[in-house]
Amino acid sequence: MSPTTSHADTVIVGAGAAGLMAAIWAGRMHPEKRIVLLDGARKLGAKILVAGGGRCNVTHHTVDPGRYAGSSTAAIAKVLRRFDVPETVEFFRELGVELKQEDTGKLFPTTDRARDVLDALLTGVRRAGVSLHHPCRVEEVELSEAGFTVRGPWGAMACNKLVLATGGKSLPRSGSDGKGLAFARALGHSVTRTFPSLVPLILAPGNPILDLSGVTLPATLQLHTSTGKHVIAFTNSTLCTHFGLSGPSVLDISRYFLDLQNTDPGAYLTVNWLPGVASSTLDAALQSLGPVPVRKYLRRHLPHRMVDTLLLLCGLDPATKGDALSRKLRRQLVMAVTAQRLDVEGNRGYRYAEVTAGGVPLRELDLKRLESRVVPGLFLCGEICDVDGPIGGLNFQWAWSSGFVVGCSVGC
Ligand SMILES: Cc1cc2nc3c(=O)[nH]c(=O)nc-3n(C[C@H](O)[C@H](O)[C@H](O)COP(=O)(O)OP(=O)(O)OC[C@H]3O[C@@H](n4cnc5c(N)ncnc54)[C@H](O)[C@@H]3O)c2cc1C
Repeated sequence: MSPTTSHADTVIVGAGAAGLMAAIWAGRMHPEKRIVLLDGARKLGAKILVAGGGRCNVTHHTVDPGRYAGSSTAAIAKVLRRFDVPETVEFFRELGVELKQEDTGKLFPTTDRARDVLDALLTGVRRAGVSLHHPCRVEEVELSEAGFTVRGPWGAMACNKLVLATGGKSLPRSGSDGKGLAFARALGHSVTRTFPSLVPLILAPGNPILDLSGVTLPATLQLHTSTGKHVIAFTNSTLCTHFGLSGPSVLDISRYFLDLQNTDPGAYLTVNWLPGVASSTLDAALQSLGPVPVRKYLRRHLPHRMVDTLLLLCGLDPATKGDALSRKLRRQLVMAVTAQRLDVEGNRGYRYAEVTAGGVPLRELDLKRLESRVVPGLFLCGEICDVDGPIGGLNFQWAWSSGFVVGCSVGC
């Protein structure tokens, strides 16, 4: 659908979570202004619809700014405070979407339907008097007399204020392919190193974990520097797949691993398949097994397929009894279970990454308005900013909060 006008007070590029939020608040705050929302996608809201396995994990009970990465915690906190979790819950309630909190602290719509979240936001945009046009991909952005001109195959539009809510590079088929980052750079902003975050990891061919495809279990993944210094650990559900590892623990640590690897290529990950059990504890337990077969003991604590793989990895006969376990093999087994080094060969890239790490640093924006300090009249919100959070709803919360700040500022 092509826009019917060639001028607007504000053009918002990108109708994802952040752009929809910015549009709703810009329209509500300044109904007299002409606000246009453009998106290149044929079908809107792809990421909202796939989020949380189609249930959309809208936010989290506890949104701690310290859990985000990228820009400074203080800067991120300043934006999050402007539109916090209770305000988010109230906002969605007003739009007709009740949220429920699950045991993990994650909040989902009570209907468990991501579609309800998207539909409510789209209705909110319409009610706020914002004109939404799609597919209208913006291919060019330039400074002009009025402020900015945006162009695409659909035509051109001049505007006084421009909002870039174009996301990062993850899930490029949704329309978020990094074009907005190129616009920001062309307009004079810097963009920090971008890389996939919350992304599954690929293990080297031949790794026995690859044969465990489908096995899910709680595990602790730990990141170490090349010199063995502990950096960070995540304990959560871990999924073995035909290519390597996925699941919440892996997604969360992937960000830190891929970041550190850039400066310390020898950085490595270990996994403890028995979270909370120290190597020394397992070692002592194995020593006191007596005539009990090692396999039988481990099967009490781990999935059977995992136990067999671990025994195979250590070259242990499955019938080996505790009292027949040599010191060397016992040590090897303890390491395989509680501190197994993972031979990570790569990651699944932006096609499978939930988020993009890196973007426009918040220090280049006036935090009260999320307006560019480089180009007055330019606003940024959502994943285009150098802010990324762990799984659990924190990335959407950043989109809601930053979209709110922009929406409230852009008309003034
Ligand atoms: C599979 C998956 C599951 C996820 N699950 C969750 C979850 O449960 N909870 C959570 O908090 N986060 C989740 N996330 C992350 C979350 O979806 C993102 O952080 C969030 O959507 C970012 O919002 P955004 O509006 O900044 O960017 P996006 O959602 O990427 O939206 C950007 C929009 O801009 C448009 N666009 C881009 N370039 C142009 C252009 N040149 N012209 C016009 N339009 C353009 C795109 O079409 C897109 O609609 C998930 C992500 C993925 C990929």
